[in-house]
Amino acid sequence: MATGKKLTCLTCGQLNRVPEDRLNASAKCGTCGAKLLSSKALEVDAGILEKAARNDELPLVADFWAPWCGPCRMMAPEFSKAAASLQGQARLVKLNTEDHQAAGQKYGIRGIPTMVAFARGREVKRQSGALREAQIVDWVRH
Ligand SMILES: [Zn+2]
Repeated sequence: MATGKKLTCLTCGQLNRVPEDRLNASAKCGTCGAKLLSSKALEVDAGILEKAARNDELPLVADFWAPWCGPCRMMAPEFSKAAASLQGQARLVKLNTEDHQAAGQKYGIRGIPTMVAFARGREVKRQSGALREAQIVDWVRH
């Protein structure tokens, strides 16, 4: 029986199955070759977010933000650092609610920045307001 974790490629949307012993920085998408466990918080569109939230077997955290939002811009470097700290444990992505307004509505985002954590196809928690790196890491882990 195949083991490993299902991970959606955040670049092309292809669902990959990654063996447990290959869940590291070099894991790549079988279709497009993009890294599956980036140390960066990748920008995603609504379709990829939905697919990853539904299928991923590694925790997924989405930061809903917009370019006009000051607190979002303040949080961006902190979120990036948190993505590096959590590499291999959780994937952090960003969704621009100005470019993808329907996604903001779909997930019921009322204020930004808002982080939403998904696990096993469900939303597990959300947090509004800008946080620092250590707070983000702590929030994701607990
Ligand atoms: Zn890919």
